[in-house]
Amino acid sequence: MASGRWYKGNTHTHTTYSDGDSEPEVVVDWYANQGYDFVFLTDHNAVVPADHIARLQRRGLAVFQGEEITMDAVHVNGLGLARTLLPDEPASGLAEPYVNVSRATRVRWAVERITAEHGLATVNHPFFGGLTAEDLLDSGEFDVFEVANGNHPEGHRALGSEGWTDALWDRLLTAGRRLVAVASDDAHHFRNWGPRWANPGRGWVQVEADSPRLTDCLEALRRGNFYASTGLELCEYRVESGRIVVELDGEEANIELVGAGGRVLDSVRGTSARFKVRGSSGPYVRMRATSDDRRQVWAQPVHF
Ligand SMILES: [Zn+2]
Ligand SMILES: [Zn+2]
Repeated sequence: MASGRWYKGNTHTHTTYSDGDSEPEVVVDWYANQGYDFVFLTDHNAVVPADHIARLQRRGLAVFQGEEITMDAVHVNGLGLARTLLPDEPASGLAEPYVNVSRATRVRWAVERITAEHGLATVNHPFFGGLTAEDLLDSGEFDVFEVANGNHPEGHRALGSEGWTDALWDRLLTAGRRLVAVASDDAHHFRNWGPRWANPGRGWVQVEADSPRLTDCLEALRRGNFYASTGLELCEYRVESGRIVVELDGEEANIELVGAGGRVLDSVRGTSARFKVRGSSGPYVRMRATSDDRRQVWAQPVHF
């Protein structure tokens, strides 16, 4: 990993620019009060304009533009997009209704447009979008994948801690993709709280960067200098001369080394682990830890 410091952020949040229940001011106040360092506002087919973003900056919280490109249930975040990309304009070439356009084609359209605008493409909640491994292999390369989404926990929960989304990530990695994964809030509700509301604070990333500026955060995400969390934190994570050193922030969990096909190559119950890693284990390995109450942390894959 790089040698910056850690910055906590959320890559997926809604406001009244689409179907969120709260103005951007309320949303950013929540993240600032909770000690986040950055947040991306990612409304459905809408980018918060730069002059409004400028008024939203809070002490200690950097607020970034983004958009959740929304094509029926297939959703792709464009992190750092400065202008709205509209999939439902005739010029998009995605002839309505979307149901006549394959899911892979929709993902490809969004990823190509986001990349051309120098944004970072994140395929959101693949389970909710009905996206299979075949769809995502057909859609071409993209940067980031949501392994956990606070608004759509079903894909994550489906098979317990080794849930559908986690297994899908392994399918793509095993096929040779170099794909990093975030956990996000996909928060819509800041007024009512409880399990049936899409509240914030359920999934986040900790990026290792030189600063919490947009370019540094995007670069850290692109390079995989971050980890994803739904509640567990790391106080140490190093990949060095044939081993991975993991130390959780004080909590006991089941710490696993996962390899090709999602196979668990090694596991430790405790607050720290040292895993031996070698190329003969397969094309990649990655670390995942799960607490008894199913909060998780995911490190990015190490490729051989
Ligand atoms: Zn979505
Ligand atoms: Zn969303």
